[in-house]
Amino acid sequence: MLSFTRTRPVKIKVPEGLLTADKLIIANNAWAAGITELARRIVPITSDMIMTAPAKTAIEKTGWTGGEGITDSQVMVDYYRVTEDSRIAFGKGGWGIAFGGSIGDDFDRNTDRAKTVEADFRRYYPELKDVAVTHDWCGPIDRTPNSLPLMGRFERQEQIIYGVGWSGNGVGPSVIGGKVLASLALGRDDRWARYPLVQKSVGLFPPEPIRYIGAHIVRTAVACKERAEIEDKKPSWLATRLSSLAPKGLEDKE
Ligand SMILES: Cc1cc2nc3c(=O)[nH]c(=O)nc-3n(C[C@H](O)[C@H](O)[C@H](O)COP(=O)(O)OP(=O)(O)OC[C@H]3O[C@@H](n4cnc5c(N)ncnc54)[C@H](O)[C@@H]3O)c2cc1C
Repeated sequence: MLSFTRTRPVKIKVPEGLLTADKLIIANNAWAAGITELARRIVPITSDMIMTAPAKTAIEKTGWTGGEGITDSQVMVDYYRVTEDSRIAFGKGGWGIAFGGSIGDDFDRNTDRAKTVEADFRRYYPELKDVAVTHDWCGPIDRTPNSLPLMGRFERQEQIIYGVGWSGNGVGPSVIGGKVLASLALGRDDRWARYPLVQKSVGLFPPEPIRYIGAHIVRTAVACKERAEIEDKKPSWLATRLSSLAPKGLEDKE
């Protein structure tokens, strides 16, 4: 989809031509930040990942044998698991930030940020120091002010329905979101159409360039605070105060 009209029926421009539809469902994740009505309700940020070479024996020696997925309570969360072919996939959320919702190549891969992710992996698993990192990549996540998804209809154009803003926790919740979107599109009056998050207002992020500059300041503060905490040091007063402005996650990050 290149663009769409706010008319009935909706006209949708695609590279091959023009489509018309009675209803349009917007479910394009962080890319929804490019749509005027949703632009100030989402900030696209990166989640960056690395993956090691297969290392079955070395990983088993650490006692990590049950296929557990691991995550921590940082705002810039670290999350990791062992793949079926015995590699470690290790990710970190929240370093890259899009200006004005524009998602560029930097949201596919950034080797500098990958080094930061690898540094966290190496810190937690010094016993795997000989295991090489073979891949790195990243993608956008759609952070909302309160980390809860946005679902509903455009205020003045009810034929346009949206379900975005999973804030990096969307694999399970977006399946439920799909049921909600289906009920809204079909005009049903059921438990999914009445889901408590439908049409829930969560406030707006500031306009650009305040959002971009502010997000960088807050992110740097969060990184300093969390680095200090990992090193068992007391974070500075300023880093703690500025960190409190970060969108709250689903977990208690205090
Ligand atoms: C590196 C990384 C790690 C993650 N790890 C986890 C995790 O461990 N657990 C978790 O729950 N979530 C995780 N997430 C988030 C999770 O992937 C998303 O929340 C989830 O995929 C959202 O599902 P969706 O269907 O809304 O969007 P997506 O699965 O992103 O699908 C949206 C689709 O819309 C398409 N699209 C965008 N713009 C247009 C357009 N203009 N026209 C047509 N199509 C368009 C995109 O190409 C894409 O295929 C991670 C995300 C990233 C990037």
